[in-house]
Amino acid sequence: MPATAALRVIDSVLIVDDSSVQRSLGAALCRELRITDVHQAEDGVDALALLDTLPAPPDLLIVDLEMPNMDGPELLAALSARRLRSPIIVASSRESALRQSVEDMGTALGLRILGSLPKPLTQSALGTLLRRQGSPEPAESRAAKTAPVDPQELRLALEREEIIVFYHPQVEIGTCRVRGLEALARWHHPSRGWIPPDAFIPVAEQHGLIHALTLRVMDLSMAQTAQWSRLGLDLSIAVNISPLLLERGELVQEISDLQRKHNLRAEQVVLEVTESSLLRELAVALGVLTRLRLRGFRLSLDDYGTGFSSMQQLARIPFTELKIDRSFVHGAAERESLQVILRSALDMASELGLETVAEGVESLQDWKLVRQYGCTLAQGWLLAKAMSASEFEPWLHRLRTHRPELLG
Ligand code: C2E
Ligand code: MG
Ligand code: MG
Repeated sequence: MPATAALRVIDSVLIVDDSSVQRSLGAALCRELRITDVHQAEDGVDALALLDTLPAPPDLLIVDLEMPNMDGPELLAALSARRLRSPIIVASSRESALRQSVEDMGTALGLRILGSLPKPLTQSALGTLLRRQGSPEPAESRAAKTAPVDPQELRLALEREEIIVFYHPQVEIGTCRVRGLEALARWHHPSRGWIPPDAFIPVAEQHGLIHALTLRVMDLSMAQTAQWSRLGLDLSIAVNISPLLLERGELVQEISDLQRKHNLRAEQVVLEVTESSLLRELAVALGVLTRLRLRGFRLSLDDYGTGFSSMQQLARIPFTELKIDRSFVHGAAERESLQVILRSALDMASELGLETVAEGVESLQDWKLVRQYGCTLAQGWLLAKAMSASEFEPWLHRLRTHRPELLG
């Protein structure tokens, strides 16, 4: 529900700057902000080598622009290729327009750019930027991040049914009605607590476990959706499909079998795929997607804006929905460049007859902007964080009390 921004708990930072004076200043400011684990690198090459040695990425990166060997923009491109999810601050003594274009470049690469700051850094500027990050992350998930996931343990976790599903509601912007939920995998580890999907989905993909994992997520979430149907709640359920699975022709039958088993209508099931799925075996992926669509399942293009496909190319694939990545949504009210991207994506989607979902609606400002731009559905922390099935109905009641504020 509408929440005030709190300082996210940040324990570790990597400062990348070729000037040792600026690095020391940054390190001192971070320590004043109670960031205890401070790493330093003198350019991009040094930073990448250091990241390879750390057990988990730092909670924050502060990146200078002008450096020998590998400069700031080159480092951002390399971090994007590694799919780094940690927030990044760009720091430079160069003009603000230049810093802004690097910010935009990083965002377009799918990185979480928090903003940019003029050098020398000050404690108040750094603190203000960090406070903009939103709600603090649960302590358990921070702890989990620090240890890599062992594929053998993940295999056992699947057998022991430790992988469960959390649900993230999608709300119709015009009516505040809940249209459906996205199923998000969570690992409840007996000693480490909750492990977030970013930590184990890539491991599942690399070790042949993603198929079993996805079928489990589908089975659990379809059973839950059927259960809600019996209570009179007509909802859709969206499941994330890894690019690797689109290479399996059998997938179409497997999904149909589960849908029939749970007695859902095909149109209640939304399959979310990312643009990168289409970069692999395009013909095979297209075959699977077309057959799924023929059977009535809905297809959503997830994380739109973080890949490189042109809209023209995407228009040839039978998507029913476009999901705009949260890096173009949250904070867009204050950033003209994001507004341009957001508006043009929404306009194109509507011309193509696609529904639109804005991910990352964290503030009332985000909500008002996507509403003004005619987006159909919103998903984000303003409304709720992903929750267990049992939390859904109480949340639904609370949502009703917030309707006047959201529709006003
Ligand atoms: P995704 O499919 O783009 O899912 C949306 C992610 O954005 C979720 O994170 C959700 O909690 C988060 N999110 C939504 N609104 C907001 C917001 O307002 N603010 C912020 N900060 N975050 C928001 P989550 O659950 O950590 O999932 C991360 C990714 O893990 C997913 O991104 C998806 O790519 C992957 N994933 C999760 N479950 C599965 C699964 O069953 N199969 C596969 N293949 N991938 C999965
Ligand atoms: Mg998704
Ligand atoms: Mg997404």
